[in-house]
Amino acid sequence: MTRIASHRGGTLEFGDSTWAGFTATAAMAVDEVEFDLHPTADGRIIVHHDATLDRTTDTSGAIAEMTATEVRAAVVDHAGAGFRHPLFIEELCTIFAESPVGFRCEIKPGADGRAYKGFVPKAVKALAAAGKLSATTFSSFLIDTLTELGGATNRPALWLVSPPVLSQLGARGVIDLARLRGIVEISVHIDTATPALMRSAEDAGLAFGCYAAHTRSQIEKAFDLSVKVFTTDRPSLAIAIRNARMEETP
Ligand code: MG
Repeated sequence: MTRIASHRGGTLEFGDSTWAGFTATAAMAVDEVEFDLHPTADGRIIVHHDATLDRTTDTSGAIAEMTATEVRAAVVDHAGAGFRHPLFIEELCTIFAESPVGFRCEIKPGADGRAYKGFVPKAVKALAAAGKLSATTFSSFLIDTLTELGGATNRPALWLVSPPVLSQLGARGVIDLARLRGIVEISVHIDTATPALMRSAEDAGLAFGCYAAHTRSQIEKAFDLSVKVFTTDRPSLAIAIRNARMEETP
């Protein structure tokens, strides 16, 4: 059964990485919630997609150069009710404390595209302290970050393969590199997914998923391919499509 992951708490339905989106996702019939982490200058961990607050809030600046208090003063630019500031990782864990929805945690690089030094063990530790590490699968676009994760936890981690990386390396190159680096699962942009690519990955022993399936046709494609898991900004739509397909199947 193809798994649905609510991307950033369902960005197109609830705003980007919002309290409202994560709260709604915790009660949904999705399998996973996807979220991204960044460190603050004073050692806290913030759940936010971008490395800066510029695009999504009324504030600007790089999270890693701000204190937690400064980050928390930002208002997420979304018309949702309730708490409207960026969340601490502890708060995300509290929202999902009683939820069966699994965690899909992306370790992000900083605004310069480089990995935050020493951040992976801190993120792992925070999830463990909140009792959520055992429910977490990690992800990253950065191969070195996946290697770091392998050293910090036994939890699974998947490689997010961007369209430029896939087009430069080709399917064979991506698969060979994944195997060389001990990667066991890849996720490609839904628009670059093909049955042949999926078959090649699976024949090489790699689990295969997709990200950014936001439109009806992209979601249908993910189900048609029977990928392991896909992320979507429209979790409610994905659930409705899955339910409709299940009703059609005798
Ligand atoms: Mg992400």
